Amino acid sequence: MDNYRQIKEETYANGATLVAVSKTYPVESILEIYKLGQRDFGENKVQELVAKAEQMPDDIRWHQIGHLQTNKVKQLLPYVHLIHTLDSIKLAREICKQAQEADINEINCLIQVKIAEEDTKYGIPPEDVADFLEGISNLPEKSIRLCGLMGMASNTDDPEKVYKEFVYLRELYDTLKATYFQDTPYFNTLSMGMSSDYRQAISAGTTMVRIGSLIFGKRK
Ligand SMILES: *Cc1c(COP(=O)(O)O)cnc(C)c1O
Repeated sequence: MDNYRQIKEETYANGATLVAVSKTYPVESILEIYKLGQRDFGENKVQELVAKAEQMPDDIRWHQIGHLQTNKVKQLLPYVHLIHTLDSIKLAREICKQAQEADINEINCLIQVKIAEEDTKYGIPPEDVADFLEGISNLPEKSIRLCGLMGMASNTDDPEKVYKEFVYLRELYDTLKATYFQDTPYFNTLSMGMSSDYRQAISAGTTMVRIGSLIFGKRK
């Protein structure tokens, strides 16, 4: 926890919001950071997010940062503040359907864009983002509130490569903001940067970093 204040100051000084990634850490650790004023927490598994949300104060904003399966959407929606991992029309359709059934007007989502080289990472390829936006706008229900983009850089020791991938995403974000989302003030979030690469993300112009192990200590 010792790093928390320093990281928080560093990210806020650079105009970015800090999401404390609490996956695998116990409720007691989350509460310690909560008492220091932290309100944004990220989880990658729906079950864990829901279980924690039910035990924790109501004013926490829960972020779903892990890949989201359609069969988990219904469970997640009542608790989630922002879904960082919208990566298919099928998922978007399910979010709309479940939002309507639960009578929730709008679900905040970021489009996950694939910027890393590895095949394993989820996300929409940058060249397909325009088609994806078209697909979203054609959905019959308007329950998806697109708030920005999310990306994960390649898992590499080369900080320059990571920086370039983040810059690329920042440029895509700026282009969309100036065109497609010109009249959409809430399209204002670019989620990129974690413990190992948040400094490159800050240099590249992130607006939201997702940091876990640097705050809570190494995961078991
Ligand atoms: C776990 C995770 C993080 C945080 O990782 P740390 O290395 O602990 O900072 C950020 N983003 C996503 C999508 C994650 O799954």
